[in-house]
Amino acid sequence: MNALSILPLLSAVCTLTLGIFVLAKNRKDITNVIFFLFSLFVSVWLGNTAFVFMSCSNEKMAIFWDRLVYFGVIFIPPTCYHFSALFSGIKKNKYLIALGYIISTFFFAISRTDLFVSQLIYYPWGCHTKAHLFHNLFVLSFAFFITLVFINLAKGLKKSTGIQKIQIKYILVAFIILGFGVFGFLPAYGINLYPFTYLAGLIAVVIITYAILRHHLMNIKVITTEIFSILVSLVLLINALLSKSLNNFILNFSLFLAISFFSVLLIRSVLKEVKTREELAALTEKLQAANEDLKKLDKAKSEFISIASHQLRTPLSIIKGFASMLEEGSYGQMNEKAKDILGKIGSSSDRLTRLINDLLDLSRMEGGRMKFEWEFIKMDELVQSVVEELAPQAEKKGVNFKWLNQTPEKMYVRADKEKLRQVVMNLIDNAIKYTPKGFVEVKLVKTPENMARLAVKDSGIGMDQEEINMIFGKFMRGKKVPRLWTEGVGLGLYVARKILEEHKGNVWAESEGEGKGSTFFVEIPVY
Ligand code: ADP
Repeated sequence: MNALSILPLLSAVCTLTLGIFVLAKNRKDITNVIFFLFSLFVSVWLGNTAFVFMSCSNEKMAIFWDRLVYFGVIFIPPTCYHFSALFSGIKKNKYLIALGYIISTFFFAISRTDLFVSQLIYYPWGCHTKAHLFHNLFVLSFAFFITLVFINLAKGLKKSTGIQKIQIKYILVAFIILGFGVFGFLPAYGINLYPFTYLAGLIAVVIITYAILRHHLMNIKVITTEIFSILVSLVLLINALLSKSLNNFILNFSLFLAISFFSVLLIRSVLKEVKTREELAALTEKLQAANEDLKKLDKAKSEFISIASHQLRTPLSIIKGFASMLEEGSYGQMNEKAKDILGKIGSSSDRLTRLINDLLDLSRMEGGRMKFEWEFIKMDELVQSVVEELAPQAEKKGVNFKWLNQTPEKMYVRADKEKLRQVVMNLIDNAIKYTPKGFVEVKLVKTPENMARLAVKDSGIGMDQEEINMIFGKFMRGKKVPRLWTEGVGLGLYVARKILEEHKGNVWAESEGEGKGSTFFVEIPVY
């Protein structure tokens, strides 16, 4: 017994053990049964190869064992094809499967005669039988069925997803490696090739076993790197063991050790890389899921706001309507105190209506349902009307309210009148609201860039840079604001920015700092 025959024998034992193992796992599953048959034929091929190597000196014996090698080899194509059809989950072609087994049975019968192989060819590493006519035909049918195997797997790969896809990738790699086994035919045609091809059989069976049994498959990259490293080391080891002189042996063995050492380093680095990638992929998946959840939550919130706002609007307009009818004396004369209170009810309902409108705008914007009715309007007229509406409020508060219209005669902008009015209203209302004493100045100019610019300046509470940066966000209010002015939710400026974006305009704020007043600007193109 020499190194050349130990290896195929060991490979045969391994292959058969794996086959039995897979079968024992699930004897009722036809895929496992066919895989067992496949591994059985591979081990027949490998095991008998060892006996051919051992009996080269006795031609009769060598031919006897080589015909047994072919018993295994001949049945590899049909079992491979059958297995690939089952595993890739595509529609099976029963006739082709049956044809594979029939053809192989025929070749098996022929392989017992000299029409298939006969005589021995001797090589430095051992011997091989010589191919004849039916051997050539067998090689053709072998190529045909192996091609079909790859077609099956490619189809399966396209169709499958998730874990099955990964499994098929494994099987594909296994069969590509098995494909190298065809070089094992070359010595039958007088070509001197060192017979390490049988390792391909063992490797393929190892990979497929792994793919069938493991559900959390390791990255195929690691497996292939490992296999090729082991393969290279093994070939170098055989080479060393077959060295003719001690010097040669030392040289070859050192080479084997060095390559094995670097192989281990390589495998480790690949493992590390794969692990990092897998961790990253898992994290990305989690993030995506979290993002989806957030989106759903946001949608639910928008819908809730929309429904609640609609429900609030109707009773609110009834309250406002009756309050003003009472104030006007439609139900009998009211005294001054009662009128004052009714006025307060009216303005509180106005503020609530504005808030509800902001909430409705928000949910419309987020649902992409905000509609704009475009028209050309005179900007100064629009501002003027807001100023007139809010002047009493400023006056009541004792704030000095100025309106400086510095626009040319005709300054038209293209806008949704109601929405732009809402923005201007919000800015001036804020300026009055956030200015305890002092002034509010509203100025409208045309800039050299042909924009209508509205500046609402006040001497109120002012803002620091941090506040300026955040107040245009959704539900964002200044730091002290919520305590001092409880009404308001921090939506007005957010909605204003969105509306201005649609108008191809801009809105921004400036302030010297807390307590130093602020100026809010709106710019919109002039037509
Ligand atoms: P709300 O007024 O309901 O809080 P807005 O979106 O209109 O919502 O304003 C957001 C925040 O911007 C306010 O809470 C306030 O902190 C700040 N702000 C707006 N206008 C002024 C202003 N004229 N002076 C100081 N701070 C202001």
